Amino acid sequence: MKTIYFITGSQDLYGEEVLTRVASDSKEIVAFLQNKLKDTIKLKYVAPAINSEAIIDVCQRASVDSNCVGVIAWMRTFSPAKMWIKGLQRLTKPLLHLHTQYNEKIPYDAIDMDYMNINQSAHGDREFGFILKRLNIAHDIVVGYYKHKQTIEAIARFCRVAKAIDYSRSLKVAMFGSNMREVAVTDGDRVESQIKYGWEVNYYGIGDLVELVSQVTDKEVSDKMAEYAQKYDIATDNVEAVKEQARYEVALRKFLSATGANAFCDTFQDLRGLNQLPGLAVQNLMGDGIGFAAEGDYKTAALSAVFMKMSEGVKGSTGFMEDYTYDLSEGQEVVLGSHMLEVSPSFAATKPKIEVHPLGIGGKSDPARLVFDGVTGNGLQVSMLDEGCDFRLVSAQIELVKQPKPMPRLPVARVMWKIKPNFKSGVKAWLESGAGHHSVVTTALTEEDVALFAKLTSTSLTLIG
Ligand code: MN
Repeated sequence: MKTIYFITGSQDLYGEEVLTRVASDSKEIVAFLQNKLKDTIKLKYVAPAINSEAIIDVCQRASVDSNCVGVIAWMRTFSPAKMWIKGLQRLTKPLLHLHTQYNEKIPYDAIDMDYMNINQSAHGDREFGFILKRLNIAHDIVVGYYKHKQTIEAIARFCRVAKAIDYSRSLKVAMFGSNMREVAVTDGDRVESQIKYGWEVNYYGIGDLVELVSQVTDKEVSDKMAEYAQKYDIATDNVEAVKEQARYEVALRKFLSATGANAFCDTFQDLRGLNQLPGLAVQNLMGDGIGFAAEGDYKTAALSAVFMKMSEGVKGSTGFMEDYTYDLSEGQEVVLGSHMLEVSPSFAATKPKIEVHPLGIGGKSDPARLVFDGVTGNGLQVSMLDEGCDFRLVSAQIELVKQPKPMPRLPVARVMWKIKPNFKSGVKAWLESGAGHHSVVTTALTEEDVALFAKLTSTSLTLIG
């Protein structure tokens, strides 16, 4: 399990007795929070930071510890902030400034100056807040008593986002083919996205995948078909078309494993050597947490992988989506989201069916795909755009709804939603912000999660809703 260092600030002026107390109180808080966060993170208690040398040492240790995804800092007493400058300058992991107290209530009958001297978080954390601001360090702040439910939930959010940022920093994205010809919004500056998010986005010729497809054995195909039969309803007589997707999936998994990639994109304009557009194969991979977006959209592929990581342990669906068409009935406007084939089965409200139908674009054989109706409930639609000088996340609040009527002739998985606060202003804000037709839709993450990711990665953010 990934680790977060819990650093308690103090100073060596106080003497042994107070510092022993600072250490034992800190251990008690770490033990309490560890129990609450045991499914999310391993909290590592470190000895109180009492001078510049100790702070440099712990910040450096956290920065080089490959298992450490972040740091929580709390000032138990006053801790002069010039002592923190050099350490914080060396810290490379996401930082949470936890503003809490050892005691929930003031002991009104007993309080004296000794109590005041040791219970100084209100004082010490302001000094710490100043230096974070002065150093311009992106960080999260959680305010509240550490045993309160809301405080614990906010710390858990930081842990999930810190784990996702750690994952992002090591994420590799395989691009089969390039960006779809002439399309603007899906393209982006891959050098800048590696600098900012750590994504190693590399191009591979589709021929590399075709060769792996040709090597897939009958046994591998039959094992994959057994998995499909167990997870989905095979609603087609064209078993050969399904087997073809099974071969693609086996080959894709080998390719991703060999390259260390956890996200990929392809494009229907570059499929030479494949008979079908990968549909079912891609969908089954997305269902297992592999990031994907179509038409060479590496940004959405990577973002979907990072968001799936962020939502680990949280109930809900997360995946690649495209705005397709509208029902514009006045006051009842609904967006129909889907893709040519590639919608994650995590959105399925019912057991998906494997169907084979012609594809009106690309000139390939009829591809097998999963078809289903989507889940309902509150969610977010998030799109990343490259503004030339920076990246921006646009996050819209949506309500996923039941489709008003059956769509028996629509041969793809579909999700429908209403955008908040209403269709006209929500969609207008989306268009004004320049957000594209590809996005990540999630019912697992909240606006607070997305905003924290944006804050900790210094990404511009537009919130709609
Ligand atoms: Mn698309």
